[in-house]
Amino acid sequence: MRARHLLACILVFLAVFPLIPGLPVFWITQMNYIGLYSLVVLGLVLLTGVGGLTSFGQSAFVGLGAYATAWLSTAAGFSPWVGLAAGLALTALVAYALGAITLRLSGHFLPLCTLAWCLALYYLYGNLDFLGRYDGIAGIPPISVFGWSLGPGERMYYLIWVLLLLAMWATHNLLHSRSGRAIRSLRSGTMAESFGVDLAHYKVVIFVYAALLGGLSGWLYAHMQRAVSPSPFGLGYGIEYLFMAVVGGMGSVWGAVVGTGVVLIVKDQLQNVLPGLVGTSVNVELLVFGVLMVLVLQHARDGIWPVLAGAWRRLGGHGASRAVSPDVLETARPLPRRERPAAGASVLRVAGIHKAFGGLVAVNDISFELRAGEIMGLIGPNGAGKSTTFNLISGVTALSGGEVRFMDRRIDGLPAHEIARMGIARSFQHVQIMPDMTVLENAALGAHLRSHAGVIAAALHAERADEAALLREAAQQLQRVGLGAHMHELAGNLPLGRQRILEIARALACDPVLLMLDEPAAGLRYKEKQDLAEVLDRLRGEGMSMLLVEHDMDFVMNLTDHLLVMDFGTRLAEGRPEEVQRNPAVLEAYLGDWADDEPAMEARA
Ligand code: ADP
Ligand code: MG
Repeated sequence: MRARHLLACILVFLAVFPLIPGLPVFWITQMNYIGLYSLVVLGLVLLTGVGGLTSFGQSAFVGLGAYATAWLSTAAGFSPWVGLAAGLALTALVAYALGAITLRLSGHFLPLCTLAWCLALYYLYGNLDFLGRYDGIAGIPPISVFGWSLGPGERMYYLIWVLLLLAMWATHNLLHSRSGRAIRSLRSGTMAESFGVDLAHYKVVIFVYAALLGGLSGWLYAHMQRAVSPSPFGLGYGIEYLFMAVVGGMGSVWGAVVGTGVVLIVKDQLQNVLPGLVGTSVNVELLVFGVLMVLVLQHARDGIWPVLAGAWRRLGGHGASRAVSPDVLETARPLPRRERPAAGASVLRVAGIHKAFGGLVAVNDISFELRAGEIMGLIGPNGAGKSTTFNLISGVTALSGGEVRFMDRRIDGLPAHEIARMGIARSFQHVQIMPDMTVLENAALGAHLRSHAGVIAAALHAERADEAALLREAAQQLQRVGLGAHMHELAGNLPLGRQRILEIARALACDPVLLMLDEPAAGLRYKEKQDLAEVLDRLRGEGMSMLLVEHDMDFVMNLTDHLLVMDFGTRLAEGRPEEVQRNPAVLEAYLGDWADDEPAMEARA
C-alpha cells in the first residue's frame, strides 16, 4: 500500500468520525481539542524540531488569538471573522517584534526568554480590566459560516480539522521548498550562510509562522469554549505543547498530531481509570503519566511517529516518495547564469590578511592573487592556516587585518551570505551536509540564491516552476560530478568521500565565479580522485576559478596553475608547482616526507 492510500483512509476516517452512530459527545470534544492543540504543536515542529529554536511560550500566542477575538466579538460586537483577522495580525506583529529582539540570543537564552514572555503575557491577561482580569471574558458568540452556526461541537469539529489539515499541507509544502531547505539547514549555521541563506530572516519567518498557528488555535478555542480566561495560556500549557511535539516526533508534520493525540488521550484515560483502581483520595495520574512518558521516550527517542513510520514500512507499505519525477527535471527551464570575468582578469585579491585567535596567529600577512580560469593551490602542513584563510575569504570568520577584494569589490566585513551572493562558493574540510535531506535537496540548497520564491508561495505550492528549475540545476550538477545515480538517497547514507563530492555539486549549483575547495580529495579512492581531477580540469576549461586546499601532492601538482605554501600562518613560498617543488625552504619545512614520492613525480615529468 502506498502512503497516499493510507492518507486517503485517514481523511475518510476523519470525515465520517462525527457521524459514527452512538458516538459519545466526549470523543468529539476530545478530537476537537486534539485538533486545536495539534495546530500549536505543528508550529513547534517547524520552529523547534526543524529549525532548532526551542520555545516554551507558544501558549502566549494562543492567548493573543483567543483574547483578540473574545474582546472584539463581545465588547466591540464584531463578527468572529474580524476577530480572526485582527487576532492573526496582532499575533504576527507581537511575534515579529519578540522574534526580532530575542532570536539573536544563542544557547539557553532563547528558551529562557520564551519562558519570560509567556509569564509576562499571562499576567497581562490576568490584570487588564477590559479583558476581565482572571475571570476572563464570557458570552463569546459561535462562529458562523454563511449564516450556519458552528455552535455544536460536531460542526466545530469540521472547521478545526479542515484548518489543521490545511496547515499540515502548507507546512509540508514549505518544508519541501527552497525556503524549507533553508529552514532545515538553519542548525548548520555557517554552512547555510555560505550558500546565501539569511539565517536571521528564516528564524523570524518560522517564529512568526509558528506563532500564527498558535493564534489560529486560540481563535478556534475562544469560539468553541465561548469563554476565555488566562489559565489555558499560561506556562504550563506552553511546556505541554513542547512535550507533545517531543512525544510525537519533532521532525515531522504527522508527529504533531500523533504526539498531541497520544498525550491528550493517555492523560484523559488515566484520569478515568486510575481513581477506580487506587481510590479517588490519591492523585496518582500525573505520576503514572510521567512514568509512561519516560518509557515512551526511552523506547522511541525520536518520538512515536518515526516508530510508526518504520512499522509501516516493515509491513510492506511505501513511504512518501522522495523522488522528483524525471519529467520535472527535464522540462524545467534552465536557470540564468552569471557573467564570468574574462580569462586572466583578477578574480580574488587578498592583501595582508591576518587572523589571531587569542594569542595564536593562525593567518599572518598572507597575500595572493587569483585570476579567472586558474586553479590555485593552497598547501601546507596541518594547522598552517589554510582553512582559516578560506573562512576569512568566505566571510565565515572576521579578519583582524588586511583586505580581500573579489572582482575589484572589497568583500571583507560583508556577511557570508552577501559574499555567496557575489559568486563565491565553497566546500568544507569537515563535511557539512544535511544528512536527513536527500542528495538532490542538499545540492539544491546550493542554488538557494538563484531563485526568489518566498515562503508564502512555497506554503501554497505556487512556486512549482521555480522549484523545478532549482531541482533541475541541482540534478545537473550532481550528474556532472558523478552522483547522478544517488540523487534520491539520503545524503547521510553516502560514504564520506561521496559526501565531499556532494559538497562540490552543491557549490557548483550556486553558479560561482570562484570555487573554494577545502581538501576535496580526502577520503577518495584512487579512481575517484582521478574522476574528481577530471571534473575540476573541465571546470577550469569552462572559465571557473578555483582555490584548492589539498594534501594529496600528486593531485595538487597535476592540477594547479599556481601554488601558495603556508606554514604557521605565514607564506613560505609561492609560484608555479614545479618551482615550488624545488624550493629548498619548502622541501625542508614541509615536503620532507614528500621525498618518498619524488620518483613518481619525476617519472611523470
Ligand atoms: P589548516 O587548515 O591549515 O590545517 P587551520 O586554518 O584549520 O589550519 O588552523 C590554523 C590554526 O588556527 C590551528 O592552530 C588551529 O588550531 C587554529 N584555529 C583554527 N580555528 C580556530 C578557532 N576558531 N579558534 C581558535 N583557534 C583556531
Ligand atoms: Mg584545514
